[in-house]
Amino acid sequence: MTALPPGSTIGMMGGGQLGRMTALAAAELGYRVHVFTPETDSPCAQVCDKATVADYSDTAALDAFARAVDVVTLEFENLPADALDRLTKTKPVRPSASVLRVAQDRLLEKEFCRRLGIGTAPYRQVDSLADLGRAAAEIGRPVVLKTRRLGYDGKGQVKLAAGAPLDAALEALKGAPAILEGFIDFVLEVSVIAARAVDGSVLAYPVVENRHENHILATTIAPAAVSPKVAAEARRIATALAEALDVVGLLAVEMFVTRDERVLVNELAPRPHNSGHWTIEGCPTSQFAQLVRAVTGLPLGAVEPFTPAEMRNLIGDAVHDWPRLVAEPAAHLHLYGKAEARPGRKMGHVTRLKR
Ligand code: AMP
Repeated sequence: MTALPPGSTIGMMGGGQLGRMTALAAAELGYRVHVFTPETDSPCAQVCDKATVADYSDTAALDAFARAVDVVTLEFENLPADALDRLTKTKPVRPSASVLRVAQDRLLEKEFCRRLGIGTAPYRQVDSLADLGRAAAEIGRPVVLKTRRLGYDGKGQVKLAAGAPLDAALEALKGAPAILEGFIDFVLEVSVIAARAVDGSVLAYPVVENRHENHILATTIAPAAVSPKVAAEARRIATALAEALDVVGLLAVEMFVTRDERVLVNELAPRPHNSGHWTIEGCPTSQFAQLVRAVTGLPLGAVEPFTPAEMRNLIGDAVHDWPRLVAEPAAHLHLYGKAEARPGRKMGHVTRLKR
């Protein structure tokens, strides 16, 4: 295996904070990052060597970008997979377009898990009111109706309690292909980030607990307070999925832990994940440094944490608290360089190590 030497350029699809933190980690290892994003002055571009500002469907811009970089990775999941197909003709794309196609579609994700014998919430494909009626009767309320694609942070989903009208719920999704899921009465939401190198070696970070507010991740607690059995199962699942999907890079797996200690997969993300930000200070190799290592063909770095940690997101106006946070000696403050603190927008995060 020949690794890309330091000085090579990593092409980053997507210009958000995940790309920004990856670019900072890339710089530590001597790599350059060239970002491709439709956004001007993006969080990632602020710390990159070069930026292409163009639409993801701009084929001329994609071709020029592919020629200018040595390998392509991504920090944004809702890219058109066709754009990755096009880049693949010129340079390695890690993870591949086929991984992205699965992770972009809640139905394909669940089918993929099921084929591996990995548990998920019960689900049915829903393309019509008749499908929805049948699915709700089979699964039993409460249920959650979700768009198959382009949903995030609770967008594109409706919870349906007993008696709630089905037609209104389906109309709210405006005809988008959907999936109906059984509502899981979970005790904890957890995630594991697995990293897989070009040579197929895999390392999984410890399982962490994720607490949401208004459907947006608010706090990650590392490690999660789960039994050794649940922790091992969650890491096994993330490792098995990264291998079966043939991921090169990172795979974040969000899971529910039930009262009877079953671990059910909710969502996959083939990129750095908000629940892995604590690894910057908490682990010998951050998730961002690990992504850089994986996509450039370097060996993976150690993932076992130095110490427990807690990460809190700074969402919207919460970022205005930065003067207090930056004055807190042991708080690790990260700000993403976003000008406007809109409600629900991830503006930064703060990690505290629990020694
Ligand atoms: P998602 O966009 O699928 O990650 O869903 C956002 C949040 O909604 C999750 O983090 C859960 O808190 C909740 N949720 C989603 N699906 C289910 C489900 N099938 N059962 C219970 N809670 C769910």
